[in-house]
Amino acid sequence: MKTLYKIIHYLNPVARLGKRQYSVFLPLFVSIFVSVTLECYVYFVLHDPNVVGLYAIFLYIGLIIFFSFRDGVRGGFTATAVTIVYYFYIIYTRHHQGQQLITSIETTIILGILYMFLGGVIGWLKQTIDKLIEKEADERRRLQTIIQQLPVGIVITDNQGRVQHSNKQLESILGIKLQKDLVAGRDIIIPVKHNGKEINASQTPLAYTLATGKPITDKEYVIQRSDSKKVHMNINTSLIHGQRGRVIAAAAIVNDITQQKELESRKDDFVNMASHELKTPVTSLKLYSSLLKKHLEKLQDEKGIKTIISINQQTERLQDLINDLLDVSRLQTGKLMFTKENFRLDLVIRETIAGLKAASKKQEIKYKGTGAVAIFGDKFRIYQVLTNLLTNAMKYSPEHEKIIVQIRKEDKKVIVSVQDFGIGIAKDQQKKVFDRLYQVTEPKEKTFPGLGMGLYISKEIIKRHRGTIWVESEKGKGSTFYFSLPLSKK
Ligand code: ADP
Repeated sequence: MKTLYKIIHYLNPVARLGKRQYSVFLPLFVSIFVSVTLECYVYFVLHDPNVVGLYAIFLYIGLIIFFSFRDGVRGGFTATAVTIVYYFYIIYTRHHQGQQLITSIETTIILGILYMFLGGVIGWLKQTIDKLIEKEADERRRLQTIIQQLPVGIVITDNQGRVQHSNKQLESILGIKLQKDLVAGRDIIIPVKHNGKEINASQTPLAYTLATGKPITDKEYVIQRSDSKKVHMNINTSLIHGQRGRVIAAAAIVNDITQQKELESRKDDFVNMASHELKTPVTSLKLYSSLLKKHLEKLQDEKGIKTIISINQQTERLQDLINDLLDVSRLQTGKLMFTKENFRLDLVIRETIAGLKAASKKQEIKYKGTGAVAIFGDKFRIYQVLTNLLTNAMKYSPEHEKIIVQIRKEDKKVIVSVQDFGIGIAKDQQKKVFDRLYQVTEPKEKTFPGLGMGLYISKEIIKRHRGTIWVESEKGKGSTFYFSLPLSKK
């Protein structure tokens, strides 16, 4: 049975599509065999050698089609050649003479041309199809090799979410071997968390992209592998469109960022520990310098008082820095607490401006308000944001005296803006200034002291109040920082 199956498979022209193995031997052998069999049949079974012509025409058309389909132009032409030789053999052995001889030769020539045309066209079609299939298979192999060589995990599905390709890197990130018939959106092979919440199969990145048409960029997901290892992944997805714009596939790139996350968390722990350790001695320093100041005032030591005031100012700066460091590490660990209440934002702005005006006599801060504005939030933290924006405006516009603070209501929210006419921020830096520890590194900006924490803390505080913060700026002309907050419902 197996041998029979093998023979059928070997002869089957469809099974050979894409193979580009064109045999001459088989068409030659089979065509000669068929001719000999036919001769025996008409001589010994039918006892009439002259009826062979009719059988031969149909039989050889079949053979030529079969072999040109199986073995290309070569197969078609070989079968045609045997056929023509056989036809001449018939003319010779049946002793055709006179008009019959001429008609037979003419028929053989016409049929020969027709057979050659048939074999040529079918053979050429078969070879073209083979080439196309081979090209596609090469393309697939090339893609597969590239996918396997990439240093990131990759999974490609068709437009229904059925997994078509994936690589070893993905399996090593997930810690399991992927089964063949997985479908994105239907199967979930390992519990996945996004933003701390477990997601279901339809919320997985590829399922989301296939369902909505929207790509996912740099989103973090966490899995708990069966070997109990927690793995942080950064995932990007996108749709792949065909020539006519139809979605033909979707791809996801998976990056293992566990090490980076662990490093960040160790760094945060260190910053947290260091700032806690620094807090106590700095508080004592402030206390002792205040005592010393009182003592010097009693002694009326003017020079000493001046020195101690400077020490006090520097200690306060140090204290602010330590507090910022602590806030950053609390934000990272989700431990920054808010005490929310209803309060008047316009009054807090006025107080903040008054406080800063006392500290810096040089710059004039103008306030443009619209009466009472009540919001629900943490008063101290909003004051912290305002102080940060205003001190930045002062710091980064040393040669300009005017700063404008504006507050206006819009729908159900309030928008506060702090405008300066200082050094400004280049377009490509404007989003980045809100990142943790980000500072513009151009020569001019480098001369200003700072650690790049203020705007990051401000952004997080505003975010936790369901608001947004943004900047509009032009290099050399100044910046306007905005933040919006929802108005109090009462
Ligand atoms: P810091 O001021 O301590 O460096 P911030 O987080 O407050 O940190 O600001 C981040 C960066 O944004 C600053 O280093 C500065 O380059 C830029 N920046 C902030 N505010 C302004 C401003 N008003 N004008 C120009 N550049 C600014």
